[in-house]
Amino acid sequence: MTSLSRRHFITTVGIAATIPLLKGCLGNPPDEPSQSVKTTAPQTSAVKPGEEPEVTTAKLGYLPIVEAAPLIVALAKGFFAKHGMTDIKIEKQANWGSARDNIKIGSQGGGLDGSQWQMPMPYLISEGIITDKAKVPMYILCQLNTQGNAIAVASKHKGKGLGVNLTGKASYFKEIAASGTRFKAAYTFPKANQEFWIRYWLAAGGIDPDLDVELLTVPTAQTVADMKRGAMDAFSTGDPWPNRIVSEGFGFSPVLTAEMWKAHPEEYLGMRKDWVDRYPLAAQAILKGVMEAQQWCDNFDNRKELASILATREYFGVKEEVLLEPLMGKYDLGERKVDDKSLAVLYWKDSKGSVSYPYKSHDLWFLTESVRWGFLPKETLANAKQLIDGVNREDLWKKAAQSLGVAAADIPTNTSRGVEKFFDGIEFNPDNPQAYLDSLKIKKA
Ligand code: CA
Repeated sequence: MTSLSRRHFITTVGIAATIPLLKGCLGNPPDEPSQSVKTTAPQTSAVKPGEEPEVTTAKLGYLPIVEAAPLIVALAKGFFAKHGMTDIKIEKQANWGSARDNIKIGSQGGGLDGSQWQMPMPYLISEGIITDKAKVPMYILCQLNTQGNAIAVASKHKGKGLGVNLTGKASYFKEIAASGTRFKAAYTFPKANQEFWIRYWLAAGGIDPDLDVELLTVPTAQTVADMKRGAMDAFSTGDPWPNRIVSEGFGFSPVLTAEMWKAHPEEYLGMRKDWVDRYPLAAQAILKGVMEAQQWCDNFDNRKELASILATREYFGVKEEVLLEPLMGKYDLGERKVDDKSLAVLYWKDSKGSVSYPYKSHDLWFLTESVRWGFLPKETLANAKQLIDGVNREDLWKKAAQSLGVAAADIPTNTSRGVEKFFDGIEFNPDNPQAYLDSLKIKKA
């Protein structure tokens, strides 16, 4: 750098640093997000000879919930660039329907090559079920996170004994229904995680989600507004939204998803099959960047910085404190407090092993749960293996993990995580999904 350009550099940085300081002195209005921070850290290139990606760019979508952190961090901390993906674009999606529409048109049409997904969205897109019959084959490359979701309930239901276990509370919901308007519970996209969590929670307590309550899809902002004015009873979503509802004083949170199913599968990175097949080395580079970001996000020593990155206007646009508490496993649930890092969102390792590795047995649970509620036909289970083998690319995950030097002990050797146990004692054995369906009292299948 010449002395002139260095002087120019110092001057520019000096001005940029002064503006946030002035704004900080004046104080931020209540909803003012944290100031934008330049977070890109220089990373030494880790591209090995022969592994140079075919392209250096891809367009990935995300939703402003903690599930997106590995994608944002991979960009902001330079992990994508470290693996040769120097021009990745990540784009905030207005809602899940937008992510679906953008993946359908692809980046060539101004859309996306890949995105964060609830499950089983990549399957529903691959099969044309939520894309007007247009089949857009997808690959699941990794899981982004586990836990970090909750159900928020409006304040008027406080003090009624609504907690993790709703056993004995069916009469409460039935009485509300008998009075004319059923208990209204919302999520931001139907037939995926956030609907499954609220359905599971209700049904485990003897409440039939199709009869005793009204479930509906509502955009996040409208749900929050409706809960504020008492028109909505509950909302199932990712952090920091439940925490925000509690901190703003119009609701409480009876249950964290981590309390229903510890180390449960949550959201995933899925890309268009045609993109991954065309650019296999670039897909490996993306995976390695995301995996390194997941390791960084998982370290609680980094979570304050993580909150500061996510809070900025260019990403979530929320106050840092609202994000930091749930990221540290500190939940003020309104009627009780939780301070337990093992219940927080996790990105790389959890009590059952790998978070990032996409277990095929978890995809099978999402398909089974879809059958349970009548979202997918019963025959889905007979074809599940073929369906999952076509979408879940755990083999690509393993290849990337090996190239990255992930310890052998951290690379699962089985595509099944084995028998899963829920808070109500129900078990899901991936070798016999029908037995799981048979064991459930409330279901449509
Ligand atoms: Ca979620």
